[in-house]
Amino acid sequence: MNIERRDFFKILSIGALTAAGSKSVQARDWQYTGRPPKAPALLYDSTLCIGCKACEVGCKKANGLDLDHSDLEKTFGVSNTWDCADDLDTNSWLKIKLYKNGDASVKDRETDGFAFMRSACMHCVEPDCQSVCPTSALLKDPETGIVSWDVDACCGCRYCQVACPFAIPKFEYEKAFPKIEKCFLCEHRLAEGQITGCSEACPTGATLFGEYETILAEAKRRLAVKEGDTYDYPVHTLESGVTKPRPAAKYINHVYGEKDGGGTQYIVLSAVPFSKLGLPKLPEHSSSSKSEALQHGLYQGLIAPIVLFGGLAAAAFRNVRQEEKEERRAQDEA
Ligand code: SF4
Ligand code: SF4
Ligand code: SF4
Repeated sequence: MNIERRDFFKILSIGALTAAGSKSVQARDWQYTGRPPKAPALLYDSTLCIGCKACEVGCKKANGLDLDHSDLEKTFGVSNTWDCADDLDTNSWLKIKLYKNGDASVKDRETDGFAFMRSACMHCVEPDCQSVCPTSALLKDPETGIVSWDVDACCGCRYCQVACPFAIPKFEYEKAFPKIEKCFLCEHRLAEGQITGCSEACPTGATLFGEYETILAEAKRRLAVKEGDTYDYPVHTLESGVTKPRPAAKYINHVYGEKDGGGTQYIVLSAVPFSKLGLPKLPEHSSSSKSEALQHGLYQGLIAPIVLFGGLAAAAFRNVRQEEKEERRAQDEA
């Protein structure tokens, strides 16, 4: 390659401007803000769940997602069968899963028992998905705490999928313009004063919607109830006026998500160890809270691209000088 020194500096300038101007790949300003005071939240009480999956269908209806069709429907044309996706995917943002052991004869028992678990985005207080996203396409809203996704900012790297401790974000591999999909806590419904589709559909109160502080207080009230004592379990919300009295289960004395992994806005009660329900044991702070400052410092100031560009420029400059020296030597010898 034969470039004049003046041309080289022209290219260098254009490159620097391009790097500085590439707003779309810059991370936006953010910092951990904790849970907003009136953060919308969900309490899932596994002991109340009957595995009916009305919440899954409610989620799909609330978010305009296609209902999946069962084999029964596909094979025999039987209509109105329940949603039946195997796992979370881009069209299924909520899944009820089953834990079972031995003969699975008793509900909410670890040995020879079974229990249900609701799998969906936890809306973490210190979201690992947000921390690893180089363009801040995933961001926790400082007012609602909802972790949402910006189509214009996403570069499709899918780091969020790898980083999420709950394996939640799903990527539309099959689409020409793929999106990251997951539960966005029905923010469009909340904006209109409605509650989430899943808590509206749940007939037992297993999925309860409310402000985080009141939902957490309700969870702690349940932990204080003696096993077998009757408790008035509210349905949909604490304020709905609908309750279903029933004997309390023998809860594990822990509200999963109060502190786990830095805390979440979707918290869980269970009578079976949380790890058996697929909820990982996490420290009191997310791994991202330790690495976030360093990582975002690099991207935010465009330090990483500038260091890379500087390195490439230095190497190219050395080559240009070498070529010039060789040309001069060849001219002197001629
Ligand atoms: S909050 Fe909305 S999007 Fe999230 S699981 Fe419930 S219904 Fe689905
Ligand atoms: S559960 Fe996963 S996708 Fe949801 S906020 Fe937490 S890290 Fe992000
Ligand atoms: S609607 Fe309620 S009871 Fe039915 S599966 Fe969902 S959480 Fe469980």
